[in-house]
Amino acid sequence: MSPDEFRQHGKALIDWIADYWATVESRPIIPDAAPGDIRSRLPTAAPEEGEPFGSIAADLDRIVMPGVTQWQSPGWFAYFPANVSFPAILGELAAAGLGQQGMLWQTSPATTEIESHVLDWLVDLMGLPMDWKTTGPGGGVLQMSASDSTHTAIVVARHRHRDADPSRMVVYTSAQAHSSIEKGANVAGIGHVRLIDTDDRMAMRASSLSAAIEADLAADLIPVFVCGTLGTTGTTAVDPLAAIGEIARRHGLWFHVDAAYAGSAMICEEFRHHLHGVELADSYTFNPHKWLLTNFDCSVFWVADRDPLIDAMAIVPPYLRNAASESGEVIDYRDWHVPLGRRFRALKLWFVIRHYGAEGLRSYVREHVRLALDLTERVEAHPSLRLVAPTLFGLVSFAHTDGDEATGRVVDAINATRTSYVVPSTLAGRLFVRVAIGSTLTELRHVEAVWSAIEGAA
Ligand code: PLP
Repeated sequence: MSPDEFRQHGKALIDWIADYWATVESRPIIPDAAPGDIRSRLPTAAPEEGEPFGSIAADLDRIVMPGVTQWQSPGWFAYFPANVSFPAILGELAAAGLGQQGMLWQTSPATTEIESHVLDWLVDLMGLPMDWKTTGPGGGVLQMSASDSTHTAIVVARHRHRDADPSRMVVYTSAQAHSSIEKGANVAGIGHVRLIDTDDRMAMRASSLSAAIEADLAADLIPVFVCGTLGTTGTTAVDPLAAIGEIARRHGLWFHVDAAYAGSAMICEEFRHHLHGVELADSYTFNPHKWLLTNFDCSVFWVADRDPLIDAMAIVPPYLRNAASESGEVIDYRDWHVPLGRRFRALKLWFVIRHYGAEGLRSYVREHVRLALDLTERVEAHPSLRLVAPTLFGLVSFAHTDGDEATGRVVDAINATRTSYVVPSTLAGRLFVRVAIGSTLTELRHVEAVWSAIEGAA
């Protein structure tokens, strides 16, 4: 493809994306595709001869779109949002166009330095501990997902006890924590994961954590890591970070905070009381790819002290040696996570922060929370509905007072609209509806639409 052809097809593709965004609201959120439908439209063998790009692009409509779920619909209330914005898309495009491989500072100074700098900005913008900046002892790095960030933190915790047997090590988190903590521990070969019980707000009971650690020490096991969650997946509960942090310090555990979803809200000062105790954390992750207008993948991982991280991750084969690394003056991000190769993820985040400005990002988060509180009031005022958890951020969690069957009918009524979509969950074995408000295009009228489906079925 010549540069002129690229120009022509690239512009057409941008038009196609803009058209998609202009029509996404009216498209059914869940495609009608049955298993195998999309694959059956593909030829059995890859083409022997190259094809004109025009016909490849046409297959976006013919083959791809019938199997696309409208995650960017303003009626998307399922899971957590995976919000996207035009500046972020353009950042992705620029990153792809530059084709950088930023494994070392030397292989792409801009990839490294913009990433360090933008993540230092975020420390200020989110009221996080100053030590976490790359200009201090800590620093931030972008990973693909919160699961990767948490896995990395567990590997560092394990490495601090490298002479011990991992099958005797113990990782702690709450029974409401995301499955990625358990997965990370399994992948790291940790012998035991304790899911600590929660209180009536679904937050970890610090006293139970203490008791579990004492019992494990008495059984000659090695407690190495505890993860507190700021905004659980089920109901956005916030664990008592200060109490967990103190227990972690007392017993020498690595303290990680998973703020994958709710971390974005820390851009607004009024949510920062949830950070109480975060200064005791050794590491912290949050996902701009959930609720800060930045395309997947973009997960921030901060450490308070980068030395143990680098100690666990760095292996320097002769072909990666270079003068800049040896000078000690640069960051080589390959030593901050499992992969060697890394793309220019920071470009999209940099574009987003500059395009919206801190104030634009604050208004964006505040508007979603305002909409969630509006929906909460409607639920509270309805005689047949009850909240199952307080609305702390953009998630409203509620059930029908008549039980699971009636709650299931509410879910079905919402999803039958095809332009609003929720995925239910369970708490203590009882079904509840999760309405997660946080898509880029969601406005009051979309929340009113989901409310009328709820009301109709309640
Ligand atoms: N942690 C929490 C609290 C989450 O809610 C999620 C996903 O929803 C994750 C971790 C996993 O995020 P990722 O898909 O970035 O691994």
